[in-house]
Amino acid sequence: MVNQNARLALVAAAAGFLVSSCAPGVPEAGRLQAIYALPSESFETLSLGRGQTLGELLYRAIGANEQESLLLAFSQHASPRRIRQGTEITLRYTRDNHQLRGVDVALTPDETVRLSRDLVGWDSKLVETPIYIDTLFVGGEIETVLWNAVVGNSALQNLTLEDRNTLIDRLDRVFQWQVDFSRQIRVGDTYRFAFEREVRPDGSMRSGQLLAAELVNRGTPFYAILFDPNGDGEGSYFDLEGESVRRAFLLRPLTYRRISSLFTNSRYHPILKTWRSHRGVDYAANAGTDVMATSDGVVIHRGLDGAYGNSIEIRHSNGFMTRYAHLRGFRSGIAVGSRVRQGDIIGYVGMTGLATGNHLHYEMLRGGRHMDPLSVDLPAGDPVPSEDRVQWVQDMSVRVAFLERIPGSDPIRLTATSVEQLNEEQKQAQGGGSP
Ligand SMILES: [Zn+2]
Repeated sequence: MVNQNARLALVAAAAGFLVSSCAPGVPEAGRLQAIYALPSESFETLSLGRGQTLGELLYRAIGANEQESLLLAFSQHASPRRIRQGTEITLRYTRDNHQLRGVDVALTPDETVRLSRDLVGWDSKLVETPIYIDTLFVGGEIETVLWNAVVGNSALQNLTLEDRNTLIDRLDRVFQWQVDFSRQIRVGDTYRFAFEREVRPDGSMRSGQLLAAELVNRGTPFYAILFDPNGDGEGSYFDLEGESVRRAFLLRPLTYRRISSLFTNSRYHPILKTWRSHRGVDYAANAGTDVMATSDGVVIHRGLDGAYGNSIEIRHSNGFMTRYAHLRGFRSGIAVGSRVRQGDIIGYVGMTGLATGNHLHYEMLRGGRHMDPLSVDLPAGDPVPSEDRVQWVQDMSVRVAFLERIPGSDPIRLTATSVEQLNEEQKQAQGGGSP
């Protein structure tokens, strides 16, 4: 059963923590993999201090005569002058007579320069930290906010807080076009996802990728299924019908505290003290919060503009235009004529122009007419290309099955289009003729 495998993987990760938490000086040989199965050694782990060189750190252990040979061996893999402050350096001693026999310098979490002392001097090799790959299956109900639900999920208790944050960030990124996590998530919404990750022996995650995810928001299920036909890590996400989860516009141009004013045709203006329409959305946010372009386009205005204060206007395809107002400042390099991509940072929240507090005033226009950015039906990204459809249906059904194996899960109802494609594919397979 896959669930059991996932549980075993978590147990394995926990075991990884145990290995790494041995106190310095405790012999580890014998419990590690073959590559490390050296004669009994004892260890001392030091950390490179600020402004300290490798030579200075090792001075006590290695005399000046030998240092040259050691640094020469080290520089076959990295520059001794470029070791970062805080780098972990492990001295390995023979247990019987406490002779220094090696030095490990952890260049990155994934690479260690292993220096060994032999009869004539020092030798070195680059050792890659071994990793294993597992898949996490996680599901639950949202009681307060998604962040709490995922961070508190017992299936993830062996993950570091940082890794759990990465998971939430990935979920946020694949659903950013469908669901505004800060505004639309409700108590009682449910989620389930399958996440593949690479794990180091100490239990930390090297990389991770969301394979499939479902978010049921107020009774409506949203899906994001990874499709990576070339297997090069450059895949993207689609719903069950093979439609892209991407939209031409992001739902929101920033991370905000709350929406302070909605789009309306009539409201009382606190500064002008008159009733006037509000043709945009106000997002209250801290001064300096990044503001992103919601879609690809070209900057057509950047600068002071009366009541808008520092503002940016971007022209997009299909007659769309967006405006970002009251900015404290602009991102350097953003000028009239600049090409921007969806999600690029263009400026920072402020309160220039007519504004009572720090907020972003965001407008969307089409053909010169104002639209409500929160209710406009936005054009979608490209669907799965027709030549990849057969592979897509195969991959999609495997990944949907991942979600159905999560404890307490209901089966996922495929839409008529997907079922039709599945049947079509099975017929072809039974025919045996097509590849
Ligand atoms: Zn406004």
